[in-house]
Amino acid sequence: MRLNSGNTPWRSTLQDPPTYPALENTVHCDCLVVGAGIGGAMASYRLSLNGAKTVLIEKRQVGYGSSHANTGLLQISNDKSLTSCMNTFGQKSGLLFYQLCQAAVRNILDLASKLDIDSQIIPRSSLLYASTPADVSALREEYENLVANGFDSEFWDEERIASVYSFSKPAALYSRSDAEANPYRLVHSLIAKAATNGVRVYEQTEARQYEFTEDGVICHTENGRIIAKKIIFAMGYETQEFKKDHGAKLINTYAVMTKPLKEFPKWHERSLLWETARPYLYFRTTPEGRIIAGGKDEPLTDPERRDIRVISQSQRLLDELEALFPELKGIELEYSWGSVFGSTRDGLPYIGPHPRFPHCYFIEGYGGNGTVYSMIAAELLTDTIAGKNRPELDLFSLTRSAKPSPSQNSVVI
Ligand SMILES: Cc1cc2nc3c(=O)[nH]c(=O)nc-3n(C[C@H](O)[C@H](O)[C@H](O)COP(=O)(O)OP(=O)(O)OC[C@H]3O[C@@H](n4cnc5c(N)ncnc54)[C@H](O)[C@@H]3O)c2cc1C
Repeated sequence: MRLNSGNTPWRSTLQDPPTYPALENTVHCDCLVVGAGIGGAMASYRLSLNGAKTVLIEKRQVGYGSSHANTGLLQISNDKSLTSCMNTFGQKSGLLFYQLCQAAVRNILDLASKLDIDSQIIPRSSLLYASTPADVSALREEYENLVANGFDSEFWDEERIASVYSFSKPAALYSRSDAEANPYRLVHSLIAKAATNGVRVYEQTEARQYEFTEDGVICHTENGRIIAKKIIFAMGYETQEFKKDHGAKLINTYAVMTKPLKEFPKWHERSLLWETARPYLYFRTTPEGRIIAGGKDEPLTDPERRDIRVISQSQRLLDELEALFPELKGIELEYSWGSVFGSTRDGLPYIGPHPRFPHCYFIEGYGGNGTVYSMIAAELLTDTIAGKNRPELDLFSLTRSAKPSPSQNSVVI
């Protein structure tokens, strides 16, 4: 699957990234991680802290999948609100999901002091604004539920918003607990640290075939084999080519990054901005003084059509940015890209084992908070592999919306 179109900005932010060899022989390990995006990076890093003998393989280069398109917003609030989660999954489970996201954002913030390559992890406030007056009552209900359950949130009216931003909106939720990061540097930083801790990393090494045995899994690559007791699949949206999830949905989404600005518009604390409309627009700034805008989701097309759509969709994103901040009129874009994006119908990621694949675990951080979900997955799965019971995994069960299917012993992809 070709995941990205146009030009993404992140490669230029890390000169001479670490490189890793291709696998040319047979290796043994406790755990094989397939995929070196943010999911595989976080899992490998956490496994390395537990002392598990780990191998990480990547068919492209490290960080060149969807994580290369990621715009780097790290938020506790999700595409699906706390109110909606509590209505859909019940009060306890809905709240647990939000609490896991809160802990994951804190854990990502903690990484800043533990990793060697600076991943530009910066604490940020967020503003979730009402796209229309009709959204205000739902926003107030969300505020009440967030605050009642101990989350940091303030309800801002139109006047308060206009006093610190260039734009006016009917209402907004302001929170101080979110963050931003450079996703490409974060992936490299985690993997470099994992490698220092003993994880064996191989690039240009595609998992092509698996044999499931009583003791584990044998994974065949073009020129090698990995004999593993456990596997974590962290193949991003390409998991859908290997194991379909009926509750997963793939679309195209778009993003742009401006040239560095000489002066910032009226933008309180350079907060992360997003809105109540679905699909939504979102905006953030970068440490180099640029602005990222994203959204304009549309149905999945073939990549060639997406290559062309990048031009018109990026112009639309620029128009939205200028509408929000009129003082930016005439601002120039430096990067524009369009990518496959996955979400699930019920709004929760898929994380955990699957009955058809013995000894295997999946990280499918589908949704706008994929980085946060990857952190949740890394924590839950590494604990599970170490023999700890993590009942939270029930929330993310891969079979929650699927029909049972017969087991199989060999999968060729
Ligand atoms: C435009 C855009 C903006 C986004 N913005 C945000 C955001 O602001 N915040 C946020 O949290 N999330 C965001 N996301 C979502 C986020 O990018 C994803 O959730 C995240 O990158 C997924 O990471 P991953 O590791 O699961 O997948 P990937 O990054 O795609 O990594 C999977 C890796 O597996 C490798 N692979 C696949 N098959 C094999 C195989 N057979 N053998 C070996 N390797 C294999 C691939 O090459 C790839 O490198 C955004 C997504 C897009 C598209």
